[in-house]
Amino acid sequence: MTVLVVGGGVIGCATAYALAKAGCAVTLLERAAPGAEASGAAAGLLAPLGESTQTAFARLALASWRLYPGVVSELRERTGIDVEHVTRGTIYPQTATASAEQAREWALAPEFGVQVLEGRDVQELEPALSPKVRRAILVRGDHWINNQRLVTAYAQAAVSAGVELAVGTEVTDVVVERGRARGVAAGAERFEGDAVLLAAGAWTSQLTGALGARLPVEPRRGQMIALAHLPPVLTYCVHGEAYLVPRPSGELLIGATVENAGFRREITAEGVAGLLRAAIDLVPSVRDLPITRTWYGFRPWAPDSLPILGPWPGIEGLWVATAHFRNGILLAPITAQVMCEWMLGGRPSIEVKEFLPDRFLRERPK
Ligand SMILES: Cc1cc2nc3c(=O)[nH]c(=O)nc-3n(C[C@H](O)[C@H](O)[C@H](O)COP(=O)(O)OP(=O)(O)OC[C@H]3O[C@@H](n4cnc5c(N)ncnc54)[C@H](O)[C@@H]3O)c2cc1C
Repeated sequence: MTVLVVGGGVIGCATAYALAKAGCAVTLLERAAPGAEASGAAAGLLAPLGESTQTAFARLALASWRLYPGVVSELRERTGIDVEHVTRGTIYPQTATASAEQAREWALAPEFGVQVLEGRDVQELEPALSPKVRRAILVRGDHWINNQRLVTAYAQAAVSAGVELAVGTEVTDVVVERGRARGVAAGAERFEGDAVLLAAGAWTSQLTGALGARLPVEPRRGQMIALAHLPPVLTYCVHGEAYLVPRPSGELLIGATVENAGFRREITAEGVAGLLRAAIDLVPSVRDLPITRTWYGFRPWAPDSLPILGPWPGIEGLWVATAHFRNGILLAPITAQVMCEWMLGGRPSIEVKEFLPDRFLRERPK
C-alpha cells in the first residue's frame, strides 16, 4: 500500500515510521522541516496522570507512556540518537495544581510511585525548591524527553525504514475521486497514494475545507523559555503554575503559556514575565540563571480538547491524526501504533471511539 502522510511533526514522523516498518511505501510531505512546529517547541513531558486515571484519554496516555522505554531504545539502535529520556520523576508543589484528592487519584496508578512529601522532606529531596513549599507530591513515573531529538530520531528512523521525506512541500489539497482519496496536491505537483493521513497539527483544518466538512482544529499558542543550567539547580522536574524541566544537555526549560492567539508568531512581555514569575516563586535560585532562548509553538486543539484519530467518514482511504493539544509528545507512540493497525485494515488495539473525527463531522461530504 502507498501512503501519503501530510505533516512532519512527531505524529506524522512516528506514524510514517510505523507504516514503513509494516511494509507500506510511505511519502512524508512536510512544508518546512521535521519538528519545525509544535513538536519542536514542546517541553517533552511524559505525564499521563491527568485529572482522572479512568477515562479513555487516560487509558490512551498510559498506553503510550508504557511504550516509551521500547521506543527510546529502538530509536537509539536505529539512529544512534539519545532522546534524553529522564525517569527521575516530577514534583508537584501543593501550593499549585496538586491537592490531596489529586494524590489519591494518582495513587490509583501504582506503577507511577506517587508519594506525598511533607515539611523538610520536600527540600531534602529537591533543595532548590522554595522554603514556602511545605507539601508536594512526587510522581516518580512522570518522565521527560528531549522532544527535538525525538522528532529527529523518528524522522531518521522513518527514512532508514524506507520513507521518502519530501521536505519543503506544502500540501494544498487532498485529491478525492469518486469518494476515495487518491492523493494530494502541492500546488501544481501531485502525489498519488492509496491512503492519505492528515497529520498537519494546528493547520490540519486548512486542508479539510474542500472535503465537505471542516475539522474544527485550532492553534493554542504556548510560549517557552530556556535558561542555562550549568551547574544544575534542579534534579527533578517541578510542575506548579509553570513547569521547570532540567535537561541533561544543560538547559532548564520553563513553560508554558496556553493562549488563544491564532497563529501570531510572537513572544510577549506578559507571557515571559508570567512564566519567570511563577518559576522564581517555585525555585528562587533560577533568578540568577541566564536566559538562553525563548520560543513559541502552536498546539493543535479541538473543542473537546481530545485527539482526533481515525478514518474520515464518507471518504475511503482518508485518515486523520491530530489535535493532541498538550500531550502530542506523550501520545506519539500509541498514535503511531493505532493508526498503523487501523490503516492496514485491522482493529485498533485500544478503545478509540471517543477520538473519531465523526464527532465533529455531522455534515457528510458530498
Ligand atoms: C509550548 C508547548 C509545550 C508543549 N509541551 C508538551 C509536553 O511537555 N508534552 C507533550 O506530550 N506535548 C506537549 N506539547 C504538545 C505537543 O507539542 C503537540 O501536541 C504535538 O507536537 C503535535 O504534533 P503534530 O505532529 O500533530 O503537530 P506539529 O508538530 O505542529 O506538526 C505539524 C507539521 O505539519 C506541517 N504542515 C502543516 N501544514 C502543512 C501542509 N499544508 N503541508 C505540509 N506540511 C504541513 C507543519 O510544518 C508541521 O511540521 C507542547 C506544545 C507546545 C506548543
